[in-house]
Amino acid sequence: MPCPVCAKHRGAGPLVSPVVWADELVVVSHRPGDFPGYLFVETRRHVAHLDGLTEAEALAVARAVWVGARALRAELDPESVHSAVAGRGLARAHFHQHLFVRHRGTPAEAGWMAVDWAGAPREDVTGLCGRLSAHFGR
Ligand SMILES: [Zn+2]
Repeated sequence: MPCPVCAKHRGAGPLVSPVVWADELVVVSHRPGDFPGYLFVETRRHVAHLDGLTEAEALAVARAVWVGARALRAELDPESVHSAVAGRGLARAHFHQHLFVRHRGTPAEAGWMAVDWAGAPREDVTGLCGRLSAHFGR
């Protein structure tokens, strides 16, 4: 069975989502749907866990997360930007790091990963991805 994440990186398949930026090592994409401000930084290579990255991949991931955080801050003016490396690393997994905003006005009782609260901002994220993309610069 073809890998759905590899297909996504080619712009196809069930997981396809807007690509914000990519190079030969990592792909930055926006989560499908209409919640603005939730990115995935993924390796192109099949590697399940953080400790399995090459040094070049680790540096590429770190830069993409840092630029992405600054881009989200600049474009959405959120209360905060969070990032997490979590997951079980299932077979053929692509390492991925979550990068997402906490919008201003998020209810205090909403947990730090809660992005789907009632009244959360909604928009077509395609335009946002174009604006975020401009921050990567190369
Ligand atoms: Zn794959």
